[in-house]
Amino acid sequence: MPLKLFNTLSRKIEEFQPIHPPKIGFYACGPTVYDRAHIGNLRSYIFEDVLRRTLIHDGHKVRFVMNITDVGHLTSDADEGEDKLEKGAKREHISVWEVAEKYTKLFKQDLQTLNIEEPDEWLKATDNIKEQIELIKKLETKGFTYKTSDGIYYDTSKFPKYGELARLNLKGQKEGARVEVNNEKRNSTDFALWKFSPKDQKRQMEWESPWGIGFPGWHIECSAMSMKALGESFDIHTGGVDHIPVHHTNEIAQSQGATGKPFVKYWLHGEFLQIDGGKMAKSAGNFYTLDILKEKGFSPMAYRYLVLGAHYRTKLNFTFEALKASQNAYEELVNQVANMADKPKIGCGEIENKFFEAIDNDLNTAQALAVMWEMLKSQNPDSAKKASLFKMDEILGLGLKEIKSIKIPKIIQKLVEARETARKNKNFKLSDELRSQIFDKGFQVDDTESGPIIKLK
Ligand code: AMP
Ligand code: ZN
Repeated sequence: MPLKLFNTLSRKIEEFQPIHPPKIGFYACGPTVYDRAHIGNLRSYIFEDVLRRTLIHDGHKVRFVMNITDVGHLTSDADEGEDKLEKGAKREHISVWEVAEKYTKLFKQDLQTLNIEEPDEWLKATDNIKEQIELIKKLETKGFTYKTSDGIYYDTSKFPKYGELARLNLKGQKEGARVEVNNEKRNSTDFALWKFSPKDQKRQMEWESPWGIGFPGWHIECSAMSMKALGESFDIHTGGVDHIPVHHTNEIAQSQGATGKPFVKYWLHGEFLQIDGGKMAKSAGNFYTLDILKEKGFSPMAYRYLVLGAHYRTKLNFTFEALKASQNAYEELVNQVANMADKPKIGCGEIENKFFEAIDNDLNTAQALAVMWEMLKSQNPDSAKKASLFKMDEILGLGLKEIKSIKIPKIIQKLVEARETARKNKNFKLSDELRSQIFDKGFQVDDTESGPIIKLK
């Protein structure tokens, strides 16, 4: 079955056809490194990891790049307010460069903890200032830019398809839907390409440019760096749904404005992790980090499992009860794997195919997990189940291959078998007695739908 993905551009599920098979260029908007990533942010990166694993599994040669925003992302997400990195520096009494380094490192650690594979290439905004200036110059030559007292802006009225991705109603917006902050802007949707450093203040991060000393706007980095890494037209671009109306809309205007070519073929967006029915966000202060989950005794894989349990295009409301249920399911999975002593062999044909069909159907991980449990409950031998499970885990990324089989002594095995017979004969007194004998020898036996599971006590 071919891979089908929901393309935000067409609002339709489309069959995935790379531009230059078997190669795929894939760009994911990365973190703004001024603070810890929260588990909402990390939901987006898990979704992208599943997509990347699926493409690789389907035989494509994927080049996956991610940016690190270490300059230019202002607190308002538009063109006003403080640079988030400068804000982080003030908060922690360290330099902006140190803030960027600190949170980049922690972000990479979070990815590793969640089994999210590192990109083939990291691109840092501050390492690519020259490329961003070049792109702005191109836009200037083509007549897309104008100057105000605080920077160089993109005139969105010059790009006829502006807002196509987000289905923006530009007329409605002009009539005052947005409160105008910068009255030098020609259109409310115009955005900064280059901002001048304030006259009365020296920024820690600033560069010379043909327009004056300053720093790049937030959106230009992703246009410049994605095209540098993947060419002017590439296959896939992702981010959270909040990027649709502004950031990605502006990236399209910049890139297509400059090159005159289509920028990205498939746009994919992950829905939010919510908390108490609202978006989990740093600015709202209602967020958890992976560290907090760990402090509360949860395994990061339980969080990954929780995220996989919901389709990436549905909102997921975070609660500790749901996380607990995921932790239980994940632990049961681990126990089942640990109890499969046999070497993986062949696989469970049909059920395994059903799993990959669910994944190829716009990454339906929720359904795929259900199929995985169906497979575990099936009558297939352990060797086949294990083989299928390992193949499934290439997509799920739950680290199942690393789980060591428990070496169960013969005597324990005998006791468990005797207990099973006692249970079948409804001799519960004997079965309880055998359970405590097993326990005294350092093991615990749990009864599950697919039979008894032996764990270390
Ligand atoms: P940021 O570091 O703020 O630039 O965000 C990094 C990524 O996380 C972006 O792709 C956002 O769209 C995404 N994101 C932010 N908040 C959430 C949330 N509550 N749930 C899922 N993704 C989110
Ligand atoms: Zn971006």
